[in-house]
Amino acid sequence: MEYPINYDSPAELREFLESANLSMKKRFGQNFLVNKGGREKIISFLRFSADDSVWEIGPGLGAMTWHLLEGGADVRAFEIDHGFIGQLKEFYGEIPNFSLTEGDFLKNFKKMRDDASASPDYILGNLPYVSGSVMIAEIVRSAIKPSGMVFTLQKEVGHRMAAEPGGKEYSGFSLVCQSKYDVFLRGELKPGSFYPRPAVQSVIVEMRPHNRFEPEDANIYYDLIDDLFLSRRKKISNNLVSGKLASKIGKQAASEALKSSGIDGGRRAETLSVADVELLSRTFAEFAK
Ligand code: SAM
Repeated sequence: MEYPINYDSPAELREFLESANLSMKKRFGQNFLVNKGGREKIISFLRFSADDSVWEIGPGLGAMTWHLLEGGADVRAFEIDHGFIGQLKEFYGEIPNFSLTEGDFLKNFKKMRDDASASPDYILGNLPYVSGSVMIAEIVRSAIKPSGMVFTLQKEVGHRMAAEPGGKEYSGFSLVCQSKYDVFLRGELKPGSFYPRPAVQSVIVEMRPHNRFEPEDANIYYDLIDDLFLSRRKKISNNLVSGKLASKIGKQAASEALKSSGIDGGRRAETLSVADVELLSRTFAEFAK
């Protein structure tokens, strides 16, 4: 399969965009990966086989899509930019194992988030810096559970995803990501790998389902994470009585749930491991019955 355009030449991409009357939109976090080695590296971490179903979030002009199609994947791409959508149809529209879902990924995802049978085998995305973390959190919190996901993101966001308890980078987002997935940092991509050059460094992140634990009640589990991190400086005992769960089950029940979990209420949220939160969520689920 030939490239439909030269994905590795910023000059040719600029010329192509001009001739097709397309512009890059900052609000959609548009930076094309113009480094073939980088794209191959990302694809190698996805570890898909021919005929596997792969969702691609934000295909842009299809630089990553080309590698997926070349590998025989059954690709469903989600793109918001009308100009790019037109080009993707022209480039790949005739290929039977390519389909395109137009519009905001988050809006389209909402319609299938509770349907585990809608899960693709894999998800790939060189995500917009502005909304990448929201997209990942939505996927993790949903019933969709692929066998692997690989994302390119702002370096700091990737480091938060993989962070261990106790450090500055550890946050509710780390706990959300690690609730169902092992998170691996797979190397950095310099600004020069993209056109236009972003102001930030990027990192490749691989996520694999660990299947060590499945939240008994996903709503309680993820509300609990939000509540625990209401204020990083406060003790979890204080955060838990002012959070969403306390307003549902009552402050008294929230205090008792914490006590009966055996976890010290004087701790700060950033010291809690995934296992601690799992334990807490089970006790809260008991008190919510
Ligand atoms: N995949 C291409 C590449 O690697 O060269 C482009 C990656 S670019 C960083 C992000 C892409 O996501 C853009 O094509 C942008 O239009 C698209 N995008 C941004 N927000 C989106 C959203 N909410 N839903 C779907 N696509 C989105």
